[in-house]
Amino acid sequence: MAGKIYIIGAGPGDPKNRTLRMLEAMKESDVVVAYTTYAELVKDLLDGKEVITARMKEELLRAKVAIKKALEGHTVAVISSGDPQVYGMASPTLEMMCANNINVDVEIIPGVTAALAAAAKLGSPLSMDFAVISLSDLLVPADEILYRVRKAAEGDFVIALYNPINKPLLIKAMEIISEYRKAETPVGIIKSAYRDNEEVIVTNLKEWNNFMDKINMITIMIVGNSKTYVCNGKMITPRGYTSRYDYVNAFNS
Ligand code: SAH
Repeated sequence: MAGKIYIIGAGPGDPKNRTLRMLEAMKESDVVVAYTTYAELVKDLLDGKEVITARMKEELLRAKVAIKKALEGHTVAVISSGDPQVYGMASPTLEMMCANNINVDVEIIPGVTAALAAAAKLGSPLSMDFAVISLSDLLVPADEILYRVRKAAEGDFVIALYNPINKPLLIKAMEIISEYRKAETPVGIIKSAYRDNEEVIVTNLKEWNNFMDKINMITIMIVGNSKTYVCNGKMITPRGYTSRYDYVNAFNS
């Protein structure tokens, strides 16, 4: 009998941000398939399991191994950091099954994605409509990425930029956003949210590039919309209450 695949979001790093469902699924699984670094994220949960790791660009290999193991009857955990739908293993695994007419039992287990984890560290920058854009041009052409950046900037979405490691592309993206937003627009740069050596920086569209050295494989950036401001060191994107209410009156009445 075929087994089951759990496609698991392990959260941003700190085990305290794991979900209970994720812990249950790990317990049930006898095989764990993960990118080497993500296996680290769950290393305390691997005892007694067959662990299959693969390098970054081997997502299809990981999907294949997971499906084959499930077909052999195993319960397989496929690990993504954050949430598995957000630039993670969920869609490659489902696509591989679909393209090969395989239908094994799959459960996608959501996790705290980097944008939400980083935003919580910054304050509340995602409290209005926001766009999530990956600046990785491995699978999507750079022109297409920059087109989306432009449309998100034009639409005044708060913008979370995943995979900002390609610096020339990042600089272009920030230049495009700057065409639509003032230089003082707050920008959050978060390195290793909920992991060792976490760094949280609040800067702005004029000065963000002073922090280029903070941008690596585990950095995410959040650019505010036209109304985002900084107070008490926190990035705040208003939900719009002030169009109807007055916070000072509301507090004092
Ligand atoms: N599935 C993951 C995203 C994978 S793409 C999720 O939902 O979070 C990898 C990118 O995610 C990194 O380049 C970085 O931009 C971001 N990222 C992942 N974990 C992070 C963390 N702990 N702190 C900051 N950014 C992180």
